[in-house]
Amino acid sequence: MSGQSSIKLVFSPEVIQRRVQELAAHLAEDYADTEPVVLGVLKGCFIFMSDLVRRLNLPVEVDFVRLSSYGASDTSSGTVEMTTPPSISLEGRPVLVVEDIVDTGRTLSWLQQYLESLGPSSVRFCVLVDKAERRELDFDADYVGFHVPKGFLVGYGLDYDERYRFLPGIYEITGQESS
Ligand code: 5GP
Ligand code: MG
Repeated sequence: MSGQSSIKLVFSPEVIQRRVQELAAHLAEDYADTEPVVLGVLKGCFIFMSDLVRRLNLPVEVDFVRLSSYGASDTSSGTVEMTTPPSISLEGRPVLVVEDIVDTGRTLSWLQQYLESLGPSSVRFCVLVDKAERRELDFDADYVGFHVPKGFLVGYGLDYDERYRFLPGIYEITGQESS
């Protein structure tokens, strides 16, 4: 970290909660009469996913994976490693992946390939934030909370170097080496 850094509110807690409710209503309709596995990508998903599943009104099973990508801390380098795999069988199950942000698309493209090799009945992706303008691989999320063109976001589970995850709103951080 170098120089002065500042954070600016991008999405307030109220705006986030309203959007999560809309996403949950949409998901509840699409997954009606199914028992999906909601698969969170740690750690960034933890607040979003806990708000989402409580509003789904569906008998979901919850599981997590942990992924890491080598290289830069603020963007993924393309080499993805799964440090924690799913702990339950996904074969024949509808799987809904919950992730904080899709940026270049490398992380979720990799995860999509991995999950499809496990034989689920379907795999869909719900992301809190889509930075579609920065995409390097062809990847489309099925459910998107917010579209953001650029900037490094923190809060509501999102970190910069493990800081800021606790903030109830989403902020853009500037003045870091990341931006
Ligand atoms: P991708 O593989 O799509 O380039 O990167 C996705 C991952 O990069 C996300 O899961 C997230 O961990 C990280 N990332 C990308 N943009 C941001 C951001 O603005 N804020 C935070 N905290 N993480 C980000
Ligand atoms: Mg992540």
